Amino acid sequence: MRVLLVEDDALLGDGIRAGLIQTGFAVDWAKDGREAELAVSTQTYDAVVLDLGLPRLPGLDVLRRARAAKNPVPILILTARDMVPDRIAGLDAGADDYLVKPFDLGELQARLRALVRRASGQVETVITHGALRLDPLDHSVQFEGRPVELSAREFAVLQELLRHPGRVLAKASLEEKIYGWGDEIDSNAIEVYVHHLRRKLDHKLIRTVRGVGYMLAKAAP
Ligand code: CA
Repeated sequence: MRVLLVEDDALLGDGIRAGLIQTGFAVDWAKDGREAELAVSTQTYDAVVLDLGLPRLPGLDVLRRARAAKNPVPILILTARDMVPDRIAGLDAGADDYLVKPFDLGELQARLRALVRRASGQVETVITHGALRLDPLDHSVQFEGRPVELSAREFAVLQELLRHPGRVLAKASLEEKIYGWGDEIDSNAIEVYVHHLRRKLDHKLIRTVRGVGYMLAKAAP
């Protein structure tokens, strides 16, 4: 899942970015309002974490312009403790949720997962597919009842495939979901992750669609 983080405070932004990457999100970090506006209007994100007090363009304007352009991306705003009017204005302008600084990183992660789930119409937190069971909350995967250890990126690739059963996902779109700005992309990384997933789970779980990408095989009845 790919998240746009908009935060001008270097220390706070760094901490949030690291925490989100650790739990398997790909993170693009925009440090001012204009950069955020450009990113939101040109890239597809699963969610946006938006600070309101920003240089060059206020967060509220980033939010209003995204909604004016009919961009439905879930947006969570970050507000200072004493800025209740900002919070109300943010929600009125189309924000989906908010957190008051200082906040707990675990709570941010949980709220983001909830937003993404709601946006994709999924009610269940745990995703199952045949004998496979993936729990985004504790980052665990089970296959045929036994726990399977996956790296953060293997987990992210599997989660993307599970979120789109029956759809072929292009290699580039998988890359987009697991890498943020500045992450080094190895040209055959996705092939390697898929190879590992097949080996750790089931060789027939992920189908290669030649020249197109990958898709989840139909679950055995
Ligand atoms: Ca700020």
